[in-house]
Amino acid sequence: MKTIRELDSITVDQIAAGEVVEKPLGAVKELVENAIDAGARHITVEITDGGIRMIRVTDDGEGIAPDQVRRAFYRHATSKITSIGDLLTLSSLGFRGEALSSIAAVSRVEMITKTAEEITGIRYLVEGGSETLYEEIGAPEGTTIVVRDLFYNTPARSKFLRKPQTEGSYIAECMEAFALSRPDIAFRFISGGVDRFHTSGNGDLKENIYRIYGRDIAAQIQPVSAASGNLRITGYIGNPSINRGSRAFERFFVNGRQIKDRFLSMALEEGYREYVMQHKFPFAVLLLELPSDEVDVNVHPAKLEVRFQNSFAVSSFVTETVRQVLHSHEMIPDALLDEKEEHAEGFSFAEDNAAERYGNAPEAEPFEKILLQNAPKSVQIEGDPQENPASLLAYGLKESPVEMSDRAAFEQERNGQLRILSEEKRKQYRILGQVFETYWLIESDDDLLMMDQHAAHEKVNYERMMKAWHDKAILSQLIDPPALIELSAREADLLKNYMEYFLNLGFEIESFGEKEILLRGVPLDLYGAADEKEFFRAILDEMTEDTSLSRDPETVTSKIAGMACKASVKGNTRMTFEEIEALLDELLTLDNPYHCPHGRPTIITMSKYELDKRFHRVVG
Ligand code: ADP
Ligand code: MG
Repeated sequence: MKTIRELDSITVDQIAAGEVVEKPLGAVKELVENAIDAGARHITVEITDGGIRMIRVTDDGEGIAPDQVRRAFYRHATSKITSIGDLLTLSSLGFRGEALSSIAAVSRVEMITKTAEEITGIRYLVEGGSETLYEEIGAPEGTTIVVRDLFYNTPARSKFLRKPQTEGSYIAECMEAFALSRPDIAFRFISGGVDRFHTSGNGDLKENIYRIYGRDIAAQIQPVSAASGNLRITGYIGNPSINRGSRAFERFFVNGRQIKDRFLSMALEEGYREYVMQHKFPFAVLLLELPSDEVDVNVHPAKLEVRFQNSFAVSSFVTETVRQVLHSHEMIPDALLDEKEEHAEGFSFAEDNAAERYGNAPEAEPFEKILLQNAPKSVQIEGDPQENPASLLAYGLKESPVEMSDRAAFEQERNGQLRILSEEKRKQYRILGQVFETYWLIESDDDLLMMDQHAAHEKVNYERMMKAWHDKAILSQLIDPPALIELSAREADLLKNYMEYFLNLGFEIESFGEKEILLRGVPLDLYGAADEKEFFRAILDEMTEDTSLSRDPETVTSKIAGMACKASVKGNTRMTFEEIEALLDELLTLDNPYHCPHGRPTIITMSKYELDKRFHRVVG
């Protein structure tokens, strides 16, 4: 017979800790929230080993009275609410009363705290949930809490910790968010003894954006300030020219709380619709304020979610505000140009078909998925392409990627011909011209080939780079002057992790301070293809988005090379007939010329027979 027993409080706290503090980031977030709730004007966070070994949070807030210190560590002990109804008027970030008890259950905690009323402070030690010391001590006003050896007594948890550097980068990102959410508080963040950033607390959000994201971004943002009824929105949004490859730069705060909300992201992006390119995302730091009874924060302690009473009103207000700000800054001529270019180089197809196709594609990259999510609905092609001549492309594409990936076999089977791209056929190629600044039409014997210039270019560059890497024959081209690139904490860590791969591919990078690098050279094959700075950023953006990057040299190198090639051919819309001839020649030398490194087709075909059939010259 099974015995049912109540768990002791330490076990309960250890289990709860799994929810509240999954990783060091969770502890930092809770402790900083406590400091903010305590009315601190200065908050310093120091971590070592990504917070695994030590987290120290110092604030100059109201402190905890001596007779309350122990209680603060009880489970569900809070000074912030007394009943669920208080959530309707909640102005604090915390309210569950679980953070201190959870953290203390899975680490060694030391707290020193003093209120304005007391002459001395209290030093309190808890190890694995049990008190080991409570003493009076001289201390400044406020609270310092040190968390050591997180998860030392819960090996099951510590097993799931990532490398200290990775954990540290999560924390850095979270600290940036705090600084953005509260420009009125001076934050300092130190990691591994290095001062990562600090803010002045003078209330100037733009200054904080500058300190966190650097000059390039701060110079290209527009202020947002609007109100509608009870709803207020302030902050900054980026000019379309600094759109990024991931959503990492879309930040929302609701009543001071950082949140991630798909609908808010969509609302923001909708506001940019005329300007944003496919698979590009705006830069935004938006602070929303609304009465606390119109937003439910009681969703999940560790998740960045809230529920709006009227989410539709909130989203449309965001969209409208963003749209107005963008319009009022006369970005229209530029942005429309951007957009035109992007449409030219993007590929549009029916969302559903695309999902189907790429669902099976061998290498559906994260950014490809983003791209699919963003495929415009307006180009949906309906019905059977056989019946609908307007869907010419869809028809051609329908054959790919499955058959196309082995086009030779496909061709063989269809009519016993040679493969479509072949040396033998090369002589017969007649390049007819370019359509939509993207596709080249090529007549070859009995086939009309349609080549996507970018995909083909990408493929050729990629193969060249990989070959050079395999042959250890990488050549770089120095760029003059070198490009100074500012990195976010996350990007800087990422780059540090994968630096050798970049170097081995022919990038010449010099670090230049904590968060800046000098890009001195790029792989020869990419030189001159596009703005080096832009495309290097694009690679980083895409890598930031990609959580599955392994350490296998071949895979990582191939990914970086693929991203580099993709990014480098962007914007390059004009190619001469001669260049296209050369591109075709080079494609012919490849094993699989039919797909770019990301699985998109480079060439699709339509046979003369198919055309004849459509024009009813032959009866099919
Ligand atoms: P919650 O924040 O949900 O109330 P916590 O476990 O995080 O729960 O904290 C418990 C209580 O300890 C808080 O309600 C607050 O009264 C007190 N407290 C925690 N950290 C601080 C701090 N840095 N300064 C002042 N009081 C604090
Ligand atoms: Mg708290």
